[in-house]
Amino acid sequence: MSAKIIQAPGKYIQGAGILSSVATYIKHLNAKFLVLGDAFVLGLTQDILSASFERENIACRFSTFTGECSRNAIATIQADAEKNQCTAIIGIGGGKTIDAAKAVSYYLGLPLVIIPTIASTDAPCSSWSVLYTDNGEFDTYLDLPFNPTLVLVDTQIIANAPARLLAAGIGDALATWFEARACRQSASSTMAGGLPTVAALSIAKQCYETLLTDAKIALLAVERNVVTDAVERIVEANTYLSGVGFESGGLAAAHAIHNGFTVLEETHSMYHGEKVAFGTLTQLILENAPTEELETVLRLCIDVGLPVTLEQLNVTGNVESKMRKVAAQACLPGDTIHNMPFNVTEEKVYAALLAADSYGSSFIKA
Ligand SMILES: [Zn+2]
Repeated sequence: MSAKIIQAPGKYIQGAGILSSVATYIKHLNAKFLVLGDAFVLGLTQDILSASFERENIACRFSTFTGECSRNAIATIQADAEKNQCTAIIGIGGGKTIDAAKAVSYYLGLPLVIIPTIASTDAPCSSWSVLYTDNGEFDTYLDLPFNPTLVLVDTQIIANAPARLLAAGIGDALATWFEARACRQSASSTMAGGLPTVAALSIAKQCYETLLTDAKIALLAVERNVVTDAVERIVEANTYLSGVGFESGGLAAAHAIHNGFTVLEETHSMYHGEKVAFGTLTQLILENAPTEELETVLRLCIDVGLPVTLEQLNVTGNVESKMRKVAAQACLPGDTIHNMPFNVTEEKVYAALLAADSYGSSFIKA
């Protein structure tokens, strides 16, 4: 019998305005930090971080992340960290900066602090890093032997970011329960390398429940750049519940279908979570989920502005041949679509993609 495994970051800290106290939470690491962020994020946060570090006499080097989370970009950052004798890595920013920081800390064997400035994916808490090619196509998952040492989320910074990013995070979080449920049914190994624990499945289920109760209100609050209790709950759902839920609950069709969409150039401007949301609808069609459940998920997507049609994903023209490509990519051997509790073929995925598109369209027109 396989082991049951749950894994999570060592510590998770969330609150409005906590970035200005960052040094008090990391000083025990006793390190020189390489702080990786893109130019935009460092422009917003570098002064706040520097002031906090100075108060605690913490040494750091700021490194500007440019471009893709690719093998080439990671090698460059790694060389910079080594040259400057950094002994811990901080990744501050969005999904790709975080993934790059994780990869660098892994290759150098250093403690890792993640400070997401948006809640658009569930990457921050996990031990997984997604690598892309220099052209932005999915390359591979990098399986790190550890989760971040600490994840720190300033909810005011999240609320200052565009609401579409929070919606994308809701899309990513939306898949968590359905993928975990599929993995449980098929007794598949999760991303943590074992069967899910009671805690992992409860977290995945609670993630979905939280979205149903708080997503719409939270999105409206973030459109006005304010933090309410609903925003706090959705940020935790998008970041922690979804992060631990997917990793120790397992991935299935929704994320594989996301990976399929990355072969279409026109979807590169869409966020990960937006493609995952459509992947979730497609998974529900694929498994012939109860109509009531399908409708609930679809209405949640529409409420928060997540795409429910191919056109909303920027896919127009030659839709049939494009969906054949998406289905072929999603069904590659080794992708998580094969964790579904039945045999999945390209033909079935192609059919589910077109049916999901029609189902979404029928609600928009209604
Ligand atoms: Zn995801």
